[in-house]
Amino acid sequence: MAASRTIVIAGAGIGGLTAALALAARGFRVVILEKTERLEEAGAGLQLSPNASRVLIDLGLQQRLATRAVTPEAVSIMSAQSGGEIIRLPLGEAASARAGAPYWVIHRADLQAALQGEVNDNPDIELRLGCQFEDTAAHAKGLTVVQRRGMTRQQEVAMALIGADGIWSSVRQHLFPQVQPQFAGLIAWRGTVDATLLPREYTSRRVQLWMGPNAHLVAYPISAARQINIVAVVPGNWSRPGWSAPGDTGEIKNVFSSPQWPGPARLIVGAVDEWRKWALFTVPGGEWSHGAIALLGDAAHAMLPFAAQGAGMAIEDAAVLAKCLGETQNEPAPSIALAMQRYARLRLPRVTQVQRTARQSGRIYHLTGSAAFARDLAIKLMGASRVLARQDWIYDWRA
Ligand SMILES: Cc1cc2nc3c(=O)[nH]c(=O)nc-3n(C[C@H](O)[C@H](O)[C@H](O)COP(=O)(O)OP(=O)(O)OC[C@H]3O[C@@H](n4cnc5c(N)ncnc54)[C@H](O)[C@@H]3O)c2cc1C
Repeated sequence: MAASRTIVIAGAGIGGLTAALALAARGFRVVILEKTERLEEAGAGLQLSPNASRVLIDLGLQQRLATRAVTPEAVSIMSAQSGGEIIRLPLGEAASARAGAPYWVIHRADLQAALQGEVNDNPDIELRLGCQFEDTAAHAKGLTVVQRRGMTRQQEVAMALIGADGIWSSVRQHLFPQVQPQFAGLIAWRGTVDATLLPREYTSRRVQLWMGPNAHLVAYPISAARQINIVAVVPGNWSRPGWSAPGDTGEIKNVFSSPQWPGPARLIVGAVDEWRKWALFTVPGGEWSHGAIALLGDAAHAMLPFAAQGAGMAIEDAAVLAKCLGETQNEPAPSIALAMQRYARLRLPRVTQVQRTARQSGRIYHLTGSAAFARDLAIKLMGASRVLARQDWIYDWRA
């Protein structure tokens, strides 16, 4: 059996597709296994801050993304307690120039389609749809990766395997069966509204974050600003895996119908006809690599979405992993395992800090009573530039 220069990636989500492009740019042949027959429309908006958009632009995606993404002019932080906006953080062109890359909001399907388009145009990458990672075994020449398409099993010899197969990762289950996703006791509800159906003050190019008692609400334009993406996060016990279970409109409207929520927040929630929901899980721990196999994105470290960095961290992982593996070109096989360890070592502190920030943000958003009052006052006193500067360590990152 000859040694292979092929890297197999399980999962064609945001992390897997980005990793494929980053690895191909460094001279590897890449095979992506994706269990679904076609990349789903499911999902809604994602935020891509400059740390992530910079990586995508470096991979040549600027043009494909610029037509689909929206550059918000500002983030408005609103409080149910004080009934309106407590601070507005300017983004837009000035912030893009400062960070050297744009802040984008985009439909997940648009981002995935742009990445898939780039992958399809790359002769060094083969995307196998309807093909599921099943098993792997290490041997002297690398790895054998077993995959299944319908009733047919197939094998591939590879130098490395990357588990980018999301929160319910089969690759992680194979490597670290003791690591299991943990339910956070929170449900994210999402819906989209045609922008023409809402009054203009709700459809401007802004990210609106409404903090309220035990819940919060985020709204921003996607799909070239034709749609408004709305996500409401509330506590709950429903914990089924998946991204797109139908949600009962009455149930979520009920949460926001309380007089503690001001009219504009109720109006946004009331405008959605069809809700989808997903239970929020996180993946704990820091075990991301074993031999020539590594995990990235949600498979390694699924986090709460409250720092808006789930996709961003998967994209950063992809860039760092490709860099580490790129440094092993022309080196013998054992160096792959060392590169995987280096990747995990480089990523762990940052990802852990972002996970912690997301958790803390969620707690702050959901404060009630006098604690909420103190929060609003503290944010106002801090002022826009200091609040924004607190994000610099996330946005200024470079691979
Ligand atoms: C359908 C869907 C909708 C989503 N919607 C939202 C949303 O609206 N908002 C939000 O913030 N986040 C959403 N997410 C999550 C978000 O995309 C991720 O948190 C983030 O982008 C990190 O992505 P990832 O590449 O690590 O994992 P994911 O984006 O979850 O991608 C994992 C991929 O691996 C594939 N896969 C799983 N098991 C196997 C296997 N055994 N073999 C081969 N392929 C496999 C999956 O089909 C999927 O395409 C969604 C994810 C999915 C899959």
